[in-house]
Amino acid sequence: MTARRIVLLGPPGSGKGTQAVRLAAWLGVPHISTGDLLRNEVQNRTELGLQAQSFMDRGELVPDQLVAEMIRQRIKGATGFVLDGFPRNIKQAEILETVTTVERALHFQLNREEIIRRLSARRVCPQCGAVYNLISSPPQHNSLCDKCKIALVQRSDDTPEVIQRRIDVQYAREIRPILEFYRKRNVLREIDAQGDIESVYRAAQQALE
Ligand code: AMP
Repeated sequence: MTARRIVLLGPPGSGKGTQAVRLAAWLGVPHISTGDLLRNEVQNRTELGLQAQSFMDRGELVPDQLVAEMIRQRIKGATGFVLDGFPRNIKQAEILETVTTVERALHFQLNREEIIRRLSARRVCPQCGAVYNLISSPPQHNSLCDKCKIALVQRSDDTPEVIQRRIDVQYAREIRPILEFYRKRNVLREIDAQGDIESVYRAAQQALE
């Protein structure tokens, strides 16, 4: 049986978000990205958004209790989901386990040089949120969203300095115990994220069988 309660783990820029969209459509389950949810809160200037923004701008994790409640609401009662960007530390993995049972955790592996190269080339549509990469999946017309035809922008946390912090402060420090947590439950699968979008997608699909 194909797993339907899935978490995607991996450094920023490893293609988690891109693969999450495709896997969720394939499985017919919601794609839940805590980064997207938080950016939405920031944009709408909600209480949560105002609290989260400074952490995001610095490339640090937003405090667990703020993110946990947001995710709990989304997950409660869901029979399937592709979680992208959660859990980001062991505490969050434990919180998640109190709400649901994860069937598969896919870990997208990518080296540091490639992470920085990819994130520096990432552009997003400020209107519809579509994600492009100037190197691997550029828009059809010079820096305009294919759908909305408005100018693409760079995420404010995709600058070299903040990228370094996101890798070092968030990812490198937190990932090991999370991998251990899911390995012990026998749901962890490693994915080589170096390849192109199609081959990584096929590897991810296989890992869910
Ligand atoms: P992302 O779009 O997944 O790269 O997330 C963008 C930013 O949102 C991160 O750098 C964090 O500041 C924040 N964020 C996203 N997910 C989480 C999470 N699970 N826990 C804490 N902060 C998060």
